[in-house]
Amino acid sequence: MILLWEAKMKGLLVLLAVSVAVFAKESFVGDQVLRITAKSETELVLLKELSQLEHLKLDFWTEPVEESLPVDIRVPFHSLQPVRAFLAYHEIHYNIMIEDLQALVDMEQREMINTRAPEPRSTDDFDYANYHTLSEINSFIELLVRENPNLVSKVVIGQSYEGRALNVLKFSTGANRPGLWIDTGIHSREWVTQASGTWFAKKIVTGYGTDAALTAILDKFDIFLEIVTNPDGFQYTHSSNRMWRKTRKPNSGSSCVGVDPNRNWDAGFGGSGSSNSPCSETYRGPYAHSEPEVKAIVDFVKSHGNLKAFVSIHSYSQMLLYPYGYTRTPCKDQAELHELAKKAVTDLKSLYGTSYKYGSIITTIYQASGGTIDWTYDQGIKYSYTFELRDTGLYGFLLPARQIIPTAEETWLALMAIMEHTKNNS
Ligand SMILES: [Zn+2]
Repeated sequence: MILLWEAKMKGLLVLLAVSVAVFAKESFVGDQVLRITAKSETELVLLKELSQLEHLKLDFWTEPVEESLPVDIRVPFHSLQPVRAFLAYHEIHYNIMIEDLQALVDMEQREMINTRAPEPRSTDDFDYANYHTLSEINSFIELLVRENPNLVSKVVIGQSYEGRALNVLKFSTGANRPGLWIDTGIHSREWVTQASGTWFAKKIVTGYGTDAALTAILDKFDIFLEIVTNPDGFQYTHSSNRMWRKTRKPNSGSSCVGVDPNRNWDAGFGGSGSSNSPCSETYRGPYAHSEPEVKAIVDFVKSHGNLKAFVSIHSYSQMLLYPYGYTRTPCKDQAELHELAKKAVTDLKSLYGTSYKYGSIITTIYQASGGTIDWTYDQGIKYSYTFELRDTGLYGFLLPARQIIPTAEETWLALMAIMEHTKNNS
C-alpha cells in the first residue's frame, strides 16, 4: 500500500515537474507583429499614445519616433482586438508581419533541439549554423582559449546582476597594444548577434596567419570580443521569455524587472528617446551605469585607456550607425565616420546583396539617449559604431538559424573595413 502510494506520489511529482517546465515559459500564442508606417505627424502622435497604454502590454520592436519609418509592434493576443479597433477608428493602416509569433518560436525551438549535435570536442565541431544556450557558448569560449593559448585569452571584466561572469575574449599577439572592441547581445533577444559573435571568434583564430589583412590588424591591435554582453537576459530568453531585451535587475517600487542597457550610459542620460518607466522596454535605469553589465564595460574602457574602435552589435533593421543618438549636433568626425560607414556597408552588400542604411543614430533611426557608442565616442574612441543586423522585419528577432552564417559572413566584411581603416588611421 505504502509502495503504491509512493509510486503515485512519484508519478504526480514527475507530472508536476513536466507541467512547470511547460508552463514556465512565456507563451506568444496568437500574438501578432503589426507594422505601421505613420503617414503623418498626427498618426505618429497616436502611435506614441498607444505605446503609453501599459495595460495593453505592447512590445514595440521598433519605436514610433519618426514619420515614414516602419513601427513594428508585438501585440499580445488579448490586446489584438482593442489595438485593431484603435487603428481602425483612427484610420491607420497596418500590415501583419508575423501572424502567430509562437509558431516562429516553436519552429526555432524545434530546430535547436532536432539539429543539436553532441557536445563539440573542438571549436571545429561547433555548430555555427545553430542557436546555442549560454552554457554552450561558455563552453565554446573555454575550448577556443584552450586550443589557441598563444592568441586567445579570456578576460572576466565583471559580474552580471545574477552573478554570471562577464567574459571577454582577448585576441592578442603582443604586449601593450591598442585595442579594438566588439560586443554582441547587449539586448538579449537579438540572438543572431551572439551567434555571429561566436562565428567572429572562430574567424579571427583561423584568419590569423592566413588572412593577410586580418594578420596585419592583429600585429598592431588586440581585439576584444564580448559575445554574451547581457548573460542574465540571454539565459532568461532561453528559460522563460524569448522576447526579453533588458537586464534582469529588479526595480525598486515596481514589479517590472530590468533596465535597457543601451539607454543606461552616461551620454545624454535621461534625455528623449529613453523612458523613466521601469515597465518600458527602453527604461533607462535609476542612474547612469546602474547596470553591472554596463558598468563593467565602462570600467574596462577607462582602465584600458587605449581603445581605437568600439563596435556594439544589435539586430534587427540592417543599419550601420555612428554617433550621436542623443543630440542633433553632428559629431566632429562625422564626415570620416560617414565615408567609412559607406565603405563598410558596400563591402557587406558585395557578398549576398544585403542592403544597409547608414548614418548617425539620430538622423537614421531616431533620438536615443544614454546609448553605448555615444558614450564611447565621448571617451575619445573615434571609430564608434553600432550595427543592426538582419533582417528588416520579416522575422525580426526570430531570424531563422539558416541565416546565421550568411549574416556573420557579410557583417565580417564590414567589421574588417572598420578595423582596417582604424589600423591605417590611428
Ligand atoms: Zn538592440
